[in-house]
Amino acid sequence: MPEPKGPRSIVCIKQVPKAQELQVDPVTNTLKRVGVPSEINPPDRNALEMALQIKDKHGGEVFVVTMGPPVFTAALEEALAMGCDRAFLLTDRLLGGSDTVPTAYALSEVILKIGGYDLVFCGEETTDASTGHVGPGIAGHLDCAQITYCSEAELLGDRVRARRAVEDGFETWECPLPCVITVNFLSSQPRPESLTGKIRVKRGGLITTWSCADVGIDPNKVGIRNSPTIVAKVDTVVLPDRKAKIFRGDPKEAVANLLDAMVADGVIAP
Ligand SMILES: Cc1cc2nc3c(=O)[nH]c(=O)nc-3n(C[C@H](O)[C@H](O)[C@H](O)COP(=O)(O)OP(=O)(O)OC[C@H]3O[C@@H](n4cnc5c(N)ncnc54)[C@H](O)[C@@H]3O)c2cc1C
Repeated sequence: MPEPKGPRSIVCIKQVPKAQELQVDPVTNTLKRVGVPSEINPPDRNALEMALQIKDKHGGEVFVVTMGPPVFTAALEEALAMGCDRAFLLTDRLLGGSDTVPTAYALSEVILKIGGYDLVFCGEETTDASTGHVGPGIAGHLDCAQITYCSEAELLGDRVRARRAVEDGFETWECPLPCVITVNFLSSQPRPESLTGKIRVKRGGLITTWSCADVGIDPNKVGIRNSPTIVAKVDTVVLPDRKAKIFRGDPKEAVANLLDAMVADGVIAP
């Protein structure tokens, strides 16, 4: 197959439980995932959009990668229907319980197995574990530059320039390719799946499924036994029921009564 002209972007996406459905099992301290509706991690959708915009402008191709159980295929299909060219699922029981150290290692091995890449995109963090470690971890394994928390990125020849959000504003960074970019929650509106994209997905043949052995992943570097993080305790917050009080009548009197009630409840000082 002839190599397409233009950059190759590889986007790492994770399928997560929908944020409003997130619940932690109080006994096992793990997220309840079974029977919970899931979605592509929101900043990963932004990362897909950023990669697809680069393809719209410069050509090339966009590949999408995920590591997880076979149900994660749904996320890959959605990414393909948005316009990605090929998808790769890394799935293997050996990976179960991996924290961000094995996850970053395994995803880097998949990227290396795919072959050449100019840009690797990740979300800034996930909405289910939210560590934000994986993108920088991949950059470390690939030994390439990284720009984190980006809301925009553009290619300038063999360099990339990206705008990143910092506490008190934005910074613009530029670095040579290849580069890992992590994309924040604020970037542009991701495009929807297209009908032609959905038809391409239905025709099949776009998703490659690999095991650890297929990729050459060392079993002694993945899985729960090779994950240094221990989630020792998870505290869930039980919010008290809301009780509404409505103050009616003369506005001056109602406001005075509201202020008295707020003082009584300790919301404001007397
Ligand atoms: C309640 C809970 C707490 C946890 N706490 C920790 C913890 O403290 N430390 C820890 O190391 N692990 C933790 N984990 C495990 C964590 O879910 C895995 O390590 C996970 O694979 C990656 O971590 P993350 O979701 O924080 O990724 P992040 O680093 O937040 O993800 C950043 C980006 O990396 C990419 N990415 C992440 N995972 C994948 C994937 N599987 N496939 C493709 N791309 C991916 C996505 O682009 C994502 O936006 C926890 C899990 C749970 C359920």
